[in-house]
Amino acid sequence: MNLYDTLTRQQRELKPIDGETFRFYCCGPTVYGPAHIGNFRTFVMHDVFRRALEAGGMKTLHVRNITDVDDKTIRDAQASGKTLKAFTAHWTEKFHTDCSALGCLPPHIEPSALEHIPQQIEMIEKLIEKGHAYPSDDGSVYFSVSSFPDYGKLSHLDTRELDLGKTQNARADADEYEKDSIADFVLWKSRKPEDGDNFWSSPWGDGRPGWHLECSAMIKEYLGNDFDLHSGGVDLVFPHHENEIAQSQCSCGGQFAAHWFHITHLMVDGGKMSKSLGNLYTIDDLEKKGHTAMEVRYVLISGHYRKQLNFTLDSLHAAKEALQKLAKGREALHAKTQTSNYMASSDDFQLFQPAWDSLNRDLNTPATLGHLFSGLKAAQKLEDDEAAANLAAFDAILKALGLELPAEEPASDIPADVQNLAERRWQAKQNKDWAASDQFRDELTALGWTIKDNPDGYEVTPR
Ligand code: AMP
Ligand code: ZN
Repeated sequence: MNLYDTLTRQQRELKPIDGETFRFYCCGPTVYGPAHIGNFRTFVMHDVFRRALEAGGMKTLHVRNITDVDDKTIRDAQASGKTLKAFTAHWTEKFHTDCSALGCLPPHIEPSALEHIPQQIEMIEKLIEKGHAYPSDDGSVYFSVSSFPDYGKLSHLDTRELDLGKTQNARADADEYEKDSIADFVLWKSRKPEDGDNFWSSPWGDGRPGWHLECSAMIKEYLGNDFDLHSGGVDLVFPHHENEIAQSQCSCGGQFAAHWFHITHLMVDGGKMSKSLGNLYTIDDLEKKGHTAMEVRYVLISGHYRKQLNFTLDSLHAAKEALQKLAKGREALHAKTQTSNYMASSDDFQLFQPAWDSLNRDLNTPATLGHLFSGLKAAQKLEDDEAAANLAAFDAILKALGLELPAEEPASDIPADVQNLAERRWQAKQNKDWAASDQFRDELTALGWTIKDNPDGYEVTPR
């Protein structure tokens, strides 16, 4: 596979350093609320990336952390009256439920920052020992940016922005900050009253680690000093990933990540979808509107990861139709097969070779989807004995995209608005929103229809 690398600004072929397993790290969620579908654009792309490597025969080791100790988790845990551990455990579980609805494979290792405080303290000790960090009077510890000449290389900060001489009196204490404030960043934050019980003892006094440190410490633990690829949303390039490189290279030596993969933002109405702007949708929000997580996944992969993608509710309707069309096309191909036990290999994708090639050229998922449709169209003319190999190739690419197709719906005399109400009632029921579920049932009754649940779902019949 060829993939664009943020550091060298080139597409490069991916090869595992150890010649065997492709080992990569993705910055995970900050668990202080439900993840929104902008976050999931990034996580779904990680999943497609991994699935595509595996479909090409590569072994992978996928590490993704849980950020459960930072400014935001502590602030909101305090406000909720729960312990940080209980508060973040709840949102971690919700994250896992959403990931599974979206068809994302769980990472092989999922370490949490709270469980790696000693490793973070150890890394700070090393940085101080090597002259890259210094304690301040109040017991905090800062990374000295001017001690690392390569600072700014990943985010291509130019020398105008990066006047290292000027950083010495500027310090950034917040976990996140703007690019124009190049500053010594905090590794250890001394204990503050607003942190409540969330502090740990260290050689510099009570406090807690700064956010950037956790990934460096956990990468060292699970991937060592050199590994194949590091990823996250594009907002992490600066300062988070820049700071990770500085901490890791200065404390451990080594190259750190050989390749940097960043996913561009999901937008709504021209702005980045983000919790602070309040313009977000969660999976639950969209399911309540009658959409499925698989339709959301389809929308998220329908744009190239290096381009901004504008989210609209209309795109979800289009996704539903697209998935149904793929299901229909697959069914027609399936009907032609004599045997379907033929396995596709990475160099034999039949009519779907262009789809496979697009996926391997900088993860061009929109082109891959386009070629799936044109492959299915061309497959209509296939002889039956060619069908099985093509079906296997189609299925292999679908699996690499992580798409599950809806079961074909039997032809129905039920009007679309009735179908729609029934589906929304079903979703409301799944979400245990009994009031909404009852309301949809009443609307169906008013239209002259009866809805009954059965072990496979529900059945709507005229009254
Ligand atoms: P957070 O939970 O804030 O730590 O973010 C989790 C991941 O989602 C990070 O990799 C972010 O860069 C990414 N992310 C945040 N907002 C968006 C967005 N609107 N589009 C794509 N990725 C995002
Ligand atoms: Zn990180």
